[in-house]
Amino acid sequence: MNSIPYSRQWIDEDDIKAVESVLRTDLITQGSKPQEFERDLAGYCGGKYCVVFNSGTSALHAAYFACGLERNDEFITSPVSFVASSNAGLYLGAQPVFVDVDGDTGNIDVSKIEEKITERTKLIVPIHYSGHPVDMEKIFNLAQKYGISVIEDACHALGARYKGDKIGQCNLSDMAVLSFHPVKHVTTGEGGAVVTNNESYYQKLLMFRSHGVTKENLMNKSEGDWYYEMHSLGYNYRMTDIQAALGISQLKKLDAFVERRRRVAKAYNKVFKDNPYFDIPQERNYAGSSYHLYPIRIMDPYKNRKKEIFAMLKAKKLGVQVHYIPIYLQPYYQGLGYRKGLCPKAEDFYKRELSIPLYPALSDEEVEYVVKTISNVFNTLQEDVH
Ligand SMILES: *Cc1c(COP(=O)(O)O)cnc(C)c1O
Repeated sequence: MNSIPYSRQWIDEDDIKAVESVLRTDLITQGSKPQEFERDLAGYCGGKYCVVFNSGTSALHAAYFACGLERNDEFITSPVSFVASSNAGLYLGAQPVFVDVDGDTGNIDVSKIEEKITERTKLIVPIHYSGHPVDMEKIFNLAQKYGISVIEDACHALGARYKGDKIGQCNLSDMAVLSFHPVKHVTTGEGGAVVTNNESYYQKLLMFRSHGVTKENLMNKSEGDWYYEMHSLGYNYRMTDIQAALGISQLKKLDAFVERRRRVAKAYNKVFKDNPYFDIPQERNYAGSSYHLYPIRIMDPYKNRKKEIFAMLKAKKLGVQVHYIPIYLQPYYQGLGYRKGLCPKAEDFYKRELSIPLYPALSDEEVEYVVKTISNVFNTLQEDVH
């Protein structure tokens, strides 16, 4: 058996044809494909507007900018995430305030947010860790009470549901951010998107993506058809037509991909339920997870042996990964003054967490191999203890 990664893309012949056909046209960037992908994404999520970007990280940067996050503002977020969700605020000179997580879901502990709100708090960024939605109603209520924006980092959660509604519908947030990295639900190689129902955010996102340049609402008189104006400082964060064509093709399979992820998760649940070595992910009654990850949490007698477990699984060609090293423990963040002990549950979660392979292209045979290998490795540990 070839080695099994913790996640990977699923590209079919029709995806390749979609990319190939763009390569045969004149416009391989700035053509019509990104807009078509935006329409499809907004339609899928049930949001009004969508803007695609060249990465999930640039989409986060644009979303934080669009909601008005600025130098010296604070934004509340979770340390159990990829560094990008916090870094995007640093790009704007704002200060991340980390709130500890729920040891069970790995999501931000909504009961601990209010105590961290100050007059400088501009934004709350919940991350739907592993594809399991955060309890958004509680965050929405806090945001209303204090006049704060909410941006969902939904990079794990395309295809997930909160109380029956699709993530990205944005009825309890200002914007939702998606990523199309190959480990995510659908891929464009690199890529991302912001979904919103707010037209003013939409306009800002478009400007930010393309140098802050516009041909509309001109400040001066047009000097001719070539004329454009730069109204704000933007970037080149555009997605190419090559990427968008791949995204359009991939999005058609999203529901099937999520369905397959959920089936694999169910198979794992069945075997690993009540095992003596690790806790398995649980869905809260309000949540329909899109299972970007299957995060197991190693129990007490074994949690200090994760390094060894990780190496044993790797030796058996089983790709596992750890999500995540708490962001503020990164040396760069330590340099900004954050200290160990800030979020004890996040640090404990990091000690225990292991993501085992979960992706739609995983075959039944591979699922069986994963189950057998993990069971064997943990059983070996127990023999050592006795
Ligand atoms: C993948 C991801 C991102 C964005 O990453 P890109 O690689 O830039 O697309 C942001 N936040 C989280 C939680 C992610 O998993």
